[in-house]
Formats: sequence, structure tokens, C-alpha cells
Amino acid sequence: MPRCIDGHQCPEWDRTEYGETALHIVVIGGGLMGTATAWFLLEAGHEVTLLDRNPELAAEGSYANGGILHAGHAAPWNSPAVAGQLLRWVGREASPLLLRPGRLPWMTRWGLGFLRHCRARDHEYVKALNTRLALYGRDRMAELRAATGIEYDGDQRGSMKIFRDRAALDAAQSAAEALEPLGIRSRTLDADGVLEQEPALADTRASLAGGIHFPDDESGDACRFVRELGRVLVERGASVRTGESVSRIEGDRSGVRSVVTDRDIIQGDRYVLAAGVDAPALVRPLGLRLPIEPAKGYSVTLPVDDGADVPRVPLIDEAHRVVITRLGDRLRIAGTVEFTGFDRTIRLSRVEVVQRQGLSNLPSLASRLDPDKVEPWACLRAVSIDGAPVLGASPIPNLFLNTAPGHLGWTFAAGAGQVVADQVGGRVTGFDRAGELSPRRFGLI
Ligand SMILES: Cc1cc2nc3c(=O)[nH]c(=O)nc-3n(C[C@H](O)[C@H](O)[C@H](O)COP(=O)(O)OP(=O)(O)OC[C@H]3O[C@@H](n4cnc5c(N)ncnc54)[C@H](O)[C@@H]3O)c2cc1C
Repeated sequence: MPRCIDGHQCPEWDRTEYGETALHIVVIGGGLMGTATAWFLLEAGHEVTLLDRNPELAAEGSYANGGILHAGHAAPWNSPAVAGQLLRWVGREASPLLLRPGRLPWMTRWGLGFLRHCRARDHEYVKALNTRLALYGRDRMAELRAATGIEYDGDQRGSMKIFRDRAALDAAQSAAEALEPLGIRSRTLDADGVLEQEPALADTRASLAGGIHFPDDESGDACRFVRELGRVLVERGASVRTGESVSRIEGDRSGVRSVVTDRDIIQGDRYVLAAGVDAPALVRPLGLRLPIEPAKGYSVTLPVDDGADVPRVPLIDEAHRVVITRLGDRLRIAGTVEFTGFDRTIRLSRVEVVQRQGLSNLPSLASRLDPDKVEPWACLRAVSIDGAPVLGASPIPNLFLNTAPGHLGWTFAAGAGQVVADQVGGRVTGFDRAGELSPRRFGLI
């Protein structure tokens, strides 16, 4: 008898009668989500082909992100406050969220969906769901680290939100305390407590209202992680095909028949689409409309030494909406949201905003930086209308999705990879809320 993957009353396409036989799975997309899924599929004994159009894995959204795996910071962007501010951000270069007027006509449908999910109760619901997935991912990440032994400048010393404004700190403290029942530990600190955790902030002591430390958060270089994992995949027998672009997915509502690339036609038993912002265009010809919009973000990476002015604890500057993370001998500053379609151009004005806002916390370090050694980066996050990722079975029986992790792809990667791999292989997944992340929630049937 077919059984339902997530234990809910499901339509036919969400059921599986698959056993534990080894299958050939084609994974499209070699960023964090695709590569992590490939790993868990391989672990389960399946044959895996991982495809990516770039010469190297993690060359797009997963190349230079903020580097924090932050279960304590997994709220969606949708919120009553953001809904109120959205129009004020149209065309404002220095704002943390920038809406380019030229994109507005293209994002009406998505924008209305996004606004619909800005109600307080939707925000709280998705925050709890994302937090649970992040916590599930933290455990899967620890297992993956132990199983592979890969190095990626990983660090497990937590993360710290810092505030200049007392009211913002109080509000964040209430929000952090509300996460405690879910298993998120946090400690609110005054300015001295913040400096005790992170002495590199000493120069800004006078302006600090305090901070919140999340001791169980982690950090690491996502790109290094993906590339190292890709190497392990190859060692363990997966076929990792880079520099090969998928031009179309052949099939119809009864199933995918093959994947057509610029070099080949590849057939598998099942297919996982983890192509980030390009996922919607690849499934549109099959009749699926994924409510996902690209949101550009920027980062800068700077070489650093062991000076006392270099932070060790990953920092989240809430007012400026930037994160500052040490990754070995580099410092990453990342942030901003720009709705500008598929334009991946690195605009220096936006780079400058991220760098200036991040370094405003670290004036001593800023004064001795060599501007020629700053590496700027921009890439697109795939954001769903409700702020939760899109994971699992699609209405097409042998096609599964792992996309729309938005600003939390590093945090979700191992958890989402495990959930999707379980569902592809027909196992009941250990993440009990997986059904709520299914594309079924958008009524795609
Ligand atoms: C500035 C910034 C800071 C961030 N900071 C954090 C953070 O601190 N913590 C956190 O948890 N998350 C963070 N994120 C989010 C995180 O980086 C992303 O959610 C994550 O990298 C997305 O991974 P992905 O695999 O879905 O997409 P991608 O990494 O974009 O991977 C998709 C892959 O699909 C491939 N592809 C696409 N189309 C095709 C095709 N037709 N044929 C073949 N291959 C194809 C692409 O080449 C690409 O490699 C940040 C994002 C940004 C932009």
C-alpha cells in the first residue's frame, strides 16, 4: 500500500510506494542545497549525478554568504513591520532593502503573496517552522562533519546580535526568549558583556546598548564546505558534472523522462531540482509555477590577521542588517536585499553600503585595511512568498524540490538535504514538520 511521506492526508502525488532499492538520482544545482542533498542520497545508498553549469560548485548563491548558521535568527523577512516600510524603500540606494522600480511590474504576483504572508500570525508560524528546520539541520550538520571530516573554516562559538538602541534590544530580547521553548538558548548582555564576548568592539563601547549571544550558532565558509563535500562525493562514487548547463527538463505531469544539458541527455529514476533562483524557469514548461523571487545580496571579504581589533564571534548588526563573520584568515561582511530581478551586477554603491555599515562597528580595523584587497561579491537568494523553503515532492511524481532557502540556506542546508533525500528514497523523514514545507502549500496541483 502506498504510504504518505509526512503522515498527513496527502493527494496522490505526495505518496510513495518506493522501497529502499538503490536508485539513480539526478540532482540539478551544485550549491549548498543540491550538494547537501547529493551527500544524504549517497549515504542512503543511491547512485547520484550532480549537475552544475559553472566550472566549480558553489559559484553562485553559495559562494560568499554571511557564513552564519543561525537557528536563533531564522525569522522570515515577511513581517508586519516590513509590510509597512516596503514602499518607503523603493529606489533608496542606502536602505537595507531596496526595491528597484523597474522590477515592480514583474513582481506584482509574488509581491502580493509576500504581503499576504506579512501578518503577525504568519510571521510567527514560519519563524517557528524555520527555527525547527534550522535545529534539525544543526544536528545533521554535526553528523555530516563527523562522517566526512571536511574542513571549511568552521567555528562553533555561537553568534551575537548587537544593538545601539535600547528599545530594539528589549524587543529582540523578548523575541529571543520566545524561542527558548523551541530549544534556542540565548543570553542578553549589557555593553560590558558584549565586550567580554567580543573585545574587538571596544572602540564602539559608548554607542552600544547591548547584545544577545546565541551560544549554539555556528559559522563557516559555505563555498569551501560545498567544494570539499563535492570532493568527498566524487571519492565515494558520485558523478559530479560541472560546467554542464541544464537547458530543459523533459517530461509532463506524469513524470520527468530526462534532463537535457548542453552536452548530453541524462536519465535518472528520480530528479532533485536545487537550482536556486533558476528553479522556477526550469519547471515552468512542465506547468509548475513556483512563487519564488530573486533577492540580491552583497558581501565583501577582507584578509585579516590576529589583531585585537579583528572579531572572533560572528556578529549580526541588527540596525544595519549586516553580518560580520570571521572565516579563518578572512573577514566576511554581508547583507542588503535588493529586488532587481536576475541582474547579478556587482554595483559598487551597494558594496560600499555593506562595507561601510559593517566596518562602522570596527573603526580600528577599518583604518588599517588595504582597500585593494577587498573582494566584493553579489548574488541572488531565492525567496518564497512565505519565507520558508520549498522542500520535497512536487506534483510531478519523480521530481523533488530543494529550493527557496532565502537568507537561510547555509543554516538549512544539512537539514533540508536530509529531508529531501529521505523523501526521494521513500523514507519517512526524521523532521516531523516536513509536510509543511512541501510545495503543496502553494496549491500547485
Ligand atoms: C549576501 C548573502 C548573505 C547570506 N548569508 C547567509 C548566512 O549568513 N547564513 C545563511 O544561512 N544563509 C545565508 N545566505 C543565504 C544562502 O547563501 C543561500 O540561501 C544559499 O547559498 C542558496 O543555496 P542554493 O543551493 O539554493 O543556491 P545556489 O548556491 O545559487 O545554487 C544553485 C546552483 O544551481 C546551478 N544552476 C542553476 N541553473 C542551472 C542550470 N540550468 N543548469 C545547471 N546548473 C544550474 C547554479 O550554477 C548554482 O550553483 C546569504 C545569502 C546572501 C546573498
